[in-house]
Amino acid sequence: MTADCLFCRIVAGEIPADVVHETDVTLAFRDINPQAPTHVIVVPRAHHPNVATMAEADPVLAAAVLRAAGEIAVAEGLTEPGYRLVFNTGAGAGQSVFHVHCHVLGGRPLAWPPG
Ligand code: AMP
Ligand code: ZN
Repeated sequence: MTADCLFCRIVAGEIPADVVHETDVTLAFRDINPQAPTHVIVVPRAHHPNVATMAEADPVLAAAVLRAAGEIAVAEGLTEPGYRLVFNTGAGAGQSVFHVHCHVLGGRPLAWPPG
């Protein structure tokens, strides 16, 4: 656990979250400020700053995050017509929590390109 990391604190149970999926290495919970009818955040339990650092340090864990995201999409009924997985990486791209997380977004039409 990294001190003062919001998502480490959620993983540790110190901050409540609406958990929808969990494995031994991942946790997923509904976003507190949803941007779509379904908006779930998937995090690895271990702290990594972003998706690139996680993939380099622990590619098996990166695969576990993606697998969890896919299982959530099925459980939430998003596979048709589709959904979006987003890893904001860096402040300029909108990353505000520097514990890697995958946004699972769906349940409405999703425009392309994103803003
Ligand atoms: P990002 O801006 O890509 O770093 O995404 C961080 C996300 O975490 C945002 O969509 C926030 O709405 C969400 N968030 C912040 N605090 C919480 C919380 N306590 N529980 C659930 N989601 C949160
Ligand atoms: Zn963390």
